Amino acid sequence: AVTLQGVNTSFGSNHVLRDISLTVAQGERVVICGPSGSGKSTMIRCINGLERYQSGHITVDGIALTRDATSLKRIRRDVGMVFQSFNLFPHLTVLENCVLAPMSVRGMKRAEAKALAMDYLGRVKIPEQARKYPNQLSGGQQQRVAIARALCMQPRVMLFDEPTSALDPEMVREVLDTMVELAGSGMTMLCVTHEMGFARQVADRVIFMDGGEIVEQGAPDTLFAAPKTERLQRFLAQIL
Ligand code: ATP
Ligand code: MG
Repeated sequence: AVTLQGVNTSFGSNHVLRDISLTVAQGERVVICGPSGSGKSTMIRCINGLERYQSGHITVDGIALTRDATSLKRIRRDVGMVFQSFNLFPHLTVLENCVLAPMSVRGMKRAEAKALAMDYLGRVKIPEQARKYPNQLSGGQQQRVAIARALCMQPRVMLFDEPTSALDPEMVREVLDTMVELAGSGMTMLCVTHEMGFARQVADRVIFMDGGEIVEQGAPDTLFAAPKTERLQRFLAQIL
């Protein structure tokens, strides 16, 4: 489970996260949406220690996220992250991208890491691309590698920050399909996305953020059909 308690983040005078409290249960799938600048990425980045927060508490499976190196290392090992830009290492093959962290962070033997990587590349349906370099793949394939690479760390939680918004439309589906499958496997997931079809399909809960706050949350069907606040109504009118 992931918990945030009274988390506040500011960049100078810009108060970006305002007293965010949130619990994501083991196996729960949560979609986060909201207008640009509402703090979605900042919140996600706080959860795996990429962003500092000024007050509040964050825990992942009971482990407190603090600034000490051991805690950060532990959290980053247990929390997988997939970004909008795939962030693969361009000079490494797909397979090398996937075995790097399991070998260096988890101390896995090369053969074991390779076997695991091939297993995950199979699950995201691109085992035949293992020897290629990222720039030889389509955007959708690269994003599936990024997902497989994160899974190779056998994380307890997966965070996604707009994983399909940099993709050409015809590649969005294949990445969403991968995420739907992952959701079906029982992985705890937090996804920032405006793919409301995906939210309807897999989300246990949708969270709407605006101005650094959680404004509304609920089951996707309820939330989309009967938004309570004017802010969410306006947002949905724009994206649906
Ligand atoms: P988008 O939908 O455009 O991705 P978002 O909801 O993810 O938006 P954030 O990226 O979390 O929004 O940004 C929230 C606010 O924090 C914005 O005002 C942004 O300018 C500011 N911000 C984010 N990161 C930084 C940073 N590293 N330094 C200064 N300000 C930042
Ligand atoms: Mg963002």
